[in-house]
Amino acid sequence: MDWFYTQPVDIRFGRGRLQELPKLLKDYKKPVLVIDSFFAGSALEERLKELAGTELVYSDISPNPDVSQVDRCAALLREKGADVIAAVGGGSAIDLAKAASVRAERISDYHGTGKPVPQDHLPVIALPTTAGTGSEVTCVSVLTDRSTGKKCPINSESFYPAAAVIDPELTLSVPPKVTASTGIDVLCHAVEGYWSRGHQPICDAIAVHAARLVLDWLPAAYSEPDNIGAREKLAEASVMAGLAFTLPKTTSSHACSFPLTSIYGIPHGEACGLTLDFFMHVNSADPRTQQLSHLLGFGDAELFAEHIHTLKKRTGLRCGLSDLALTSEEIDVLVKKSHHPNLANNPIEITDEILYELYTTLSKGSN
Ligand code: NAD
Repeated sequence: MDWFYTQPVDIRFGRGRLQELPKLLKDYKKPVLVIDSFFAGSALEERLKELAGTELVYSDISPNPDVSQVDRCAALLREKGADVIAAVGGGSAIDLAKAASVRAERISDYHGTGKPVPQDHLPVIALPTTAGTGSEVTCVSVLTDRSTGKKCPINSESFYPAAAVIDPELTLSVPPKVTASTGIDVLCHAVEGYWSRGHQPICDAIAVHAARLVLDWLPAAYSEPDNIGAREKLAEASVMAGLAFTLPKTTSSHACSFPLTSIYGIPHGEACGLTLDFFMHVNSADPRTQQLSHLLGFGDAELFAEHIHTLKKRTGLRCGLSDLALTSEEIDVLVKKSHHPNLANNPIEITDEILYELYTTLSKGSN
């Protein structure tokens, strides 16, 4: 078997490591802070300005950031002559910062067009506040163009952050609903990275570790938001799962999540988790999916799928779409829009018949 592994991001993990920001920024003259809108005007924003030694802040960031927001941030970076970005937030803020770092006039020129992103870019120091997307270690930026309804990732070497500072204390304020959604996203990254056609042994080992941590710790982080031990384990799972999927790439659940989020506004992680147990059933014909299930202590993939369903129920996540009362035309659109290239990474070929079965089953399933 041929494989390739690289991991260019300098990773620092631990409680209180936010304090290291001045050391990481010491060689730069014009840092700009890109901060999740949740923290705008907060004590954390003041602390970050002090640590970074700057008043320059961009924080107009929506969940599933829009290409227009990237363009506004890039304009600020050009205008102020920024030489580094400190990105503090969930995947949305970090993805926006990564995309803005190339300082393009119009990021939409590169969004879903296949045109390579410029290599000249500002370094990004990523500090995740959710656990999470793993964006702090990936070469991916997921953007939405609300003018066309398109949500999709841009992959580029330019998007690897220079450094990732994972301080689990930054996740203590995440509310239970977001904890559940981001946590199931971590499980999807680990599982999809493992069963992806692009799998390779280093990412396999990391994926198993990350999946085990989510299964063990998500319920506690969900029901006890102040449990720093659980938060720390999920933060570890998140960064590890980011490493597990960035090279093998995600598969069916992520491909289906893009229309579920862009059309129906279902939060990213919840949209990915919605289909994970269904695809686990489909992929039970794949020996590596069975192998992963065994490594995680399940008798087979069907039992792992049942466990995922129970975990979703226990953490208040959606298990169906019946509230949307989908028409057959709407199901047609979902099937069509699920044909993102990541679908082809699934170990079992996902046909339109399988997608129809998925969305029909979900449309009958209670939330
Ligand atoms: P998010 O960044 O959209 O944040 C979700 C919500 O939580 C927002 O309202 C945000 O303001 C709030 N929030 C963030 N941190 C908080 C905190 N500490 N306390 C309280 N509230 C907080 O959610 P996310 O799941 O982290 O990111 C999702 C985005 O990342 C999607 O666009 C998704 O497609 C993308 N994504 C990117 C990658 C990648 O590798 N780049 C991987 C997976 C997903």
